Amino acid sequence: MKTALISGVSGQDGAYLADLLLKQGYSVYGTSRDAQMSSFSNLSRLGIRDKIKLKSMILTDFRSVLQTLTKIQPDEVYNLAGQSSVGLSFEQPVETLESMAIGTLNLLEAIRFTGAKIKLYNASSSECFGDTKGIPADENTPFHPRSPYAVAKSTAFWEVANYREAYGLFACSGILFNHESPLRPERFVTQKIIKAAIDIAAGKQDKLYLGDISIQRDWGWAPEYVEAMYLMLQQEEPDDYVIATGETYSLAEFVESAFACVGLNWQDYVESDSNLLRLTDIAVGRGNPSKAEQKLGWKAQYKMPDVVRMMVVSPSGLQ
Ligand code: NAP
Repeated sequence: MKTALISGVSGQDGAYLADLLLKQGYSVYGTSRDAQMSSFSNLSRLGIRDKIKLKSMILTDFRSVLQTLTKIQPDEVYNLAGQSSVGLSFEQPVETLESMAIGTLNLLEAIRFTGAKIKLYNASSSECFGDTKGIPADENTPFHPRSPYAVAKSTAFWEVANYREAYGLFACSGILFNHESPLRPERFVTQKIIKAAIDIAAGKQDKLYLGDISIQRDWGWAPEYVEAMYLMLQQEEPDDYVIATGETYSLAEFVESAFACVGLNWQDYVESDSNLLRLTDIAVGRGNPSKAEQKLGWKAQYKMPDVVRMMVVSPSGLQ
């Protein structure tokens, strides 16, 4: 039986990945900054809370990371923890950078220090590319981060690449475009939109206030994006991969789909709020996932309209 360790198991991706790895027969450990205090509500929603061995680990504390790896002796580590909101990163730049850059470096150093053959997956992000002006980004597209979050993710990406080249570590970064599910917290605009559409249809809310709805993104379905993470660590050689659907929609189209799912016309309820605009935003996010399709055999089945529908109707996101 293989052993996997997931940092950030309480989050959206952590919960779906834990579920996938259990189904693959793994012994699954998951960490939180404070496993005594965290509710792990996402694991409960998937009905797997009792099957995951939960531990506390602070990624910015090398002793904590080294001790956890030494005790658990995982075959695979999935590094999903960190301050994951682009919007919040403008308010908490230091916490964002430390949680990603120092956290990933500590994991890489701890793996190198133990000398164990541990494979590492690192959660990178399409935000690293910045605005590609509509050109689909692939693994060769240069980074131009436009938020503290993207700066942090870019730093962690290069740490992983450097340790792979310098020390021969089996370490991969998945450069994932946005992926959504019912487990998304409400501070993310997609979940804010879905909840507002449902609440307005139920007469519990009158209006939805949004920032720039002309921005375009490539939105995928989180439960199938975690499959790509797993596949990256099953390859002969470590490498980095862009994971995306390859289809881009505007936020206005996302809103239209969400309101249509509950039988409403979005234009009657949505108003703009300039306070919600970002200092620097990305106009168009577009990904080219062909390398993942060729090498991993991974291809997104669900595109934005499917994602919206499943977020509206499904409590757990699992079929
Ligand atoms: P998430 O739901 O926010 O989960 C991230 C986890 O990291 C949290 O459950 C939390 O666990 C931990 N965390 C939060 N703030 C932290 C901090 N300041 N320091 C250390 N740990 C912290 O994120 P997700 O959507 O599952 O995404 C997983 C990873 O993929 C993240 O690194 C995210 O940035 C990246 N990513 C996500 C997307 C996406 O569209 N979802 C796209 C590209 C990349 P505890 O509170 O239990 O410690």
